[in-house]
Amino acid sequence: MTDSYSVGLGPYAADAPASQALFDRAQAIVPGGVNSPVRAFRAVGGTPRFMVGGEGCWLTDADGRRYVDLVCSWGPLILGHAHPEVIDAITSAAAHGTSFGTPTPGEVVLGEEIVARTPVEQVRLVNSGTEATMSALRLARGYTGRAKVIKFAGCYHGHVDALLAAAGSGLATLALPDTPGVTGAAAGDTIVLPYNDIAAVEAAFAEHGPSIAAVITEAAAGNMGVVAPKDGFNGKLAELAHRHGALLIVDEVMTGFRVSRSGWAGLEPVDADLWTFGKVMGGGMPAAAFGGRASIMAALAPAGPVYQAGTLSGNPLACAAGLATLRLATTEVYTRLDATAATISKLASEALAAAGVPHVLSTAGSMFSIFFTASPVSNYDEARTQDVQAFKAFFHEMLSRGVYLPPSAYEAWFVSTAIDDDALAVIQAALPHAARAAAAS
Ligand SMILES: *Cc1c(COP(=O)(O)O)cnc(C)c1O
Repeated sequence: MTDSYSVGLGPYAADAPASQALFDRAQAIVPGGVNSPVRAFRAVGGTPRFMVGGEGCWLTDADGRRYVDLVCSWGPLILGHAHPEVIDAITSAAAHGTSFGTPTPGEVVLGEEIVARTPVEQVRLVNSGTEATMSALRLARGYTGRAKVIKFAGCYHGHVDALLAAAGSGLATLALPDTPGVTGAAAGDTIVLPYNDIAAVEAAFAEHGPSIAAVITEAAAGNMGVVAPKDGFNGKLAELAHRHGALLIVDEVMTGFRVSRSGWAGLEPVDADLWTFGKVMGGGMPAAAFGGRASIMAALAPAGPVYQAGTLSGNPLACAAGLATLRLATTEVYTRLDATAATISKLASEALAAAGVPHVLSTAGSMFSIFFTASPVSNYDEARTQDVQAFKAFFHEMLSRGVYLPPSAYEAWFVSTAIDDDALAVIQAALPHAARAAAAS
C-alpha cells in the first residue's frame, strides 16, 4: 500500500501496473474496457482494479494488493467472497451438469424459499435484475391493458428502455440524463416524478389515471446513493395505484434479502402487487426473480397470454448458490449486518466531521451511503447537490489504504458478515486520511 497519494489521473496508473495492463488490453476490445459502466472508475479517475480473487471480506487485485471490500459485487455477497458452503453448493451442482433447458428441482426449492420469505405468492426466475423489472413491467401492462408507468428520478431498475429515464446508478455516476438508443416510443409512456413526492404522484394520477398501468419504485432508493422512503410514502403509492386501477411494483433487487430475511418487506409491509428481486438471491451467480399476487402472475405464459422466457432461467448453478446463501442468511446474519453497517457508517461520519467535511450519512436498513453535501437528501435533485470532487479524493485515499469503496458518490456501500475486527481496523485507520483528503480537495 502506498502512503503518499495525490489526486489526478497519472499516479493511479503507475500505482497498479498489472491492472493498467489489463485495462489497456480491455479497452482495445471492449467499449470503455468494462462490461458494466461504473466499473471503469470514470467518476473517480484512475485505473480500475482488476480483481483476481476474493476471500471473506477481502479482495485481491492483479497487482497482489488486498482490499477490504465494501462493494460486495454491488450487493449480492452478504456472506462475503467464496463462502465455503456456497462454493460447495455450486461445485456439487456443476458436477451434475450446468444447464438442462428443463425444469429442475433446485428452482422449485429456491422459489419456495422466496415465497416463504416475502409477500409474493408466485415467482418466476430470470437471470438479472434488469430482466426482472422488464418482465414485471410487461406483466403489469399486459394485465391492466394500460401503457403508462410512473417511475422516480434517481431510482434505477436496470437498463430497461422504458425505465432508463432519469435513472440512478451508472447514469448518475456519469451524469447522463438518459440515453440515446431509447426511442420516444419506448420512453414516451414513462412518467418521471421526484422521489418521496406524493403530491406529484397524486397530480400524475389525476391527469393520466386511466392509462397508468403501474408505479415502480425501489423499496428504498439505493441507486442515487441511499435515500429511504419517507414515512408512509410506499404505502401511499399502493393506495393511489389501487384507487386508480394500477399496480404497484416494488423493486427489491437491492434491498431484497439484504436489509432483512424478507428484504424491505420485513421492515415495512407494503400492499404492493408485484416485487422484483436479484443480487443476494443469486449468491453471486446470475439469478433474479419477479413475483406477486397469484391472480396477476397467472397472466404469465404458459398459464396466461403475457410472454416471458429464458434459455438459462432457473439455472441449476445459480439456484444452488442462491439457495445456499438464503439458507445461511438467518436472523443472526441480519443482526450482524445491521451492527457492522452501523459501526462503519458511524466511523466514516465521525472521521468526516472531525476533518470538517460537510456530509450527510443516509441510511435505509443496513444500506447506507454518504452524501458530500451539507443539506438533507430526500430525492435525486438534492443528492446532486453533493461535491463529487470531495468524494473522489476520499475514494482514492481509501483505495490507497486498502479499502475498496464503490467508485461513485451515488452508490450504496455494501457490508458483509465477513467483515471482522482486522478489516474494521484497516477501515478505521484509513478514514481520517481520506477525510482530510476530502477536506483539502
Ligand atoms: C441492481 C439493480 C437492478 C438491476 O439488476 P441487474 O442484475 O444489474 O440487471 C434493478 N433494480 C435495482 C433496485 C437494482 O439495485
